[in-house]
Amino acid sequence: MSQAVVLEPAEVWAYLVSRELLPADARGAVREVGDGNMNRVFLAIPDDTAIPSLAVKQAPPWIQRLGPSAPMSPERALIEARALRTFAEYAPRQTPRVLDVDPTRFAFTMEDLSDLTVLRTALNDGASLGRTSAEVGELVGRVTFATSVAGATPQARAALIADSVNPLLAEVTLQYLLGDPFVAAEHNHHHPALGAAVESLRRDPAVRTELAALRAAFGAKTQALVHGDLHSGSVMVGVRDGEPVVRVIDPEFAMVGPIGLDLGLYIANVVIAALRSYATGATARGAAHLATVADCWDAFCAAWRDGWPGRVDPLLDDGWLLRELRDTWRDTLGYAAVELVRRVAGYSHASDLETLPDPGPASAVVLSLGHKLLVDREICGSRPDPRALARLVSTSW
Ligand code: ADP
Ligand code: MG
Ligand code: MG
Ligand code: MG
Repeated sequence: MSQAVVLEPAEVWAYLVSRELLPADARGAVREVGDGNMNRVFLAIPDDTAIPSLAVKQAPPWIQRLGPSAPMSPERALIEARALRTFAEYAPRQTPRVLDVDPTRFAFTMEDLSDLTVLRTALNDGASLGRTSAEVGELVGRVTFATSVAGATPQARAALIADSVNPLLAEVTLQYLLGDPFVAAEHNHHHPALGAAVESLRRDPAVRTELAALRAAFGAKTQALVHGDLHSGSVMVGVRDGEPVVRVIDPEFAMVGPIGLDLGLYIANVVIAALRSYATGATARGAAHLATVADCWDAFCAAWRDGWPGRVDPLLDDGWLLRELRDTWRDTLGYAAVELVRRVAGYSHASDLETLPDPGPASAVVLSLGHKLLVDREICGSRPDPRALARLVSTSW
C-alpha cells in the first residue's frame, strides 16, 4: 500500500472538488477532527454558508495512532461505509448520511456532524442521556431485525454475510475485548488498588469458560448485522431545532454476529458513565443514566415486535421470538461484562473513569460488576430485566 493514497489536510479540498462534492470555485477551510485512534477524519467548511460542510473519513493502511509499524487493511473504511448504508436503510434517523464512497482512496464522505458532541465527552461533562439510549436501542433493534432470519430471506442473508466479512477487525475485538484483559498481556494496565481483584478474575475458571463461550458466540453466532464497536465514543449527540439528535458513527467493525454484542457494549458504557456520576457525588444523574438501560432494551424489543408481523418466515412463532429475546439479553449481559472488565483491566480504558481525581473506587466497582455478571448472568434474574441490572449497579456503589 503506497503512501500516495493517504489523504493529507492540504489535499482534502481539491479531493472533494474532484469527487464533485464541492463546487470548483468554492473556498473554505479544512480541519482535522479525528481523535486519531484508528483513522483520520477531516471537515471541509465552505466560506459560503449556503454550501453544506462535509466530513471525510479515511482509513490509512495502518492504525493511525501507531503509524506504519502497525499495518491494518484500509478496506475497513469500505466496510464502514457499507454498514452505514445498511443502517441508513433501516434506522435513517440515527445514521449519518453517506454522500460518497471512494474505494481507491479508502475514504468516504458524510454529513458534517460537528454541531454534535461525542456521547462519552458529553457525559463526562455532565450531560444527561435523555433519549439517547432509546435511540441506540431502536437502531440496534431495527437493523438486527431486518438482517436476521426473521427479517431477511436466506438469499439476502447469504449476500449480507459475504459482504460483511471483516476478519481483521474481528481479530482486534478477539484480542482487545475478548482476550488480553483476561490474561497477563503486555499492554494491559490497571489501577494499583485493583491488583488483587484483577488477579482473582484472571484465575477464576468460571471466567475462562464464560469468556470462551462469548468468544465462540462472537465467531459463530451469525444472528444479524452488528455495529461491533458501539461504545459511547461511537455515538454523537446534540440538539437541532430544539429536538434531541442522536447519530451512531464508526461501524468499521461491522459484521454479522451476536446481537448482544452491540447492546452489551453500549449498556456497559452507560454503567461506567453512571459510576462516574456516583463517584463525583452526582447521585441523581447516575440513577438517571441507569434508568436508560431499560429505555435501550425496551426500544430494541419494540423494534423487533414492530417488524415481527412482517417476518419472512411464518414458521418462526411467538415462542421463538421470546426465546430469541431472552437469549439476546443473556448475551448482552455477557458482552457488557467483558466490556466492563476491558475498560479497567485491558489496554483501552474509559476516560469516564481515568479523568476522575481518583479512578480507583469506581474502577473497582466496574471490575467487580464485570466479574459477577460474567460468571452469573442470572444475578439479574432469569428473564430479561434491565431494571434489575440498574439496581445491581446502584447497590454496588
Ligand atoms: P475512528 O474510527 O478513528 O475511531 P470515528 O469515526 O470514531 O473514527 O471518528 C473520530 C472522531 O471524529 C469522532 O470522535 C468525532 O469527534 C469526529 N467525527 C467523526 N465523524 C464525524 C462527522 N461526520 N462529523 C463531524 N465529526 C466527526
Ligand atoms: Mg488506568
Ligand atoms: Mg473506529
Ligand atoms: Mg471511533
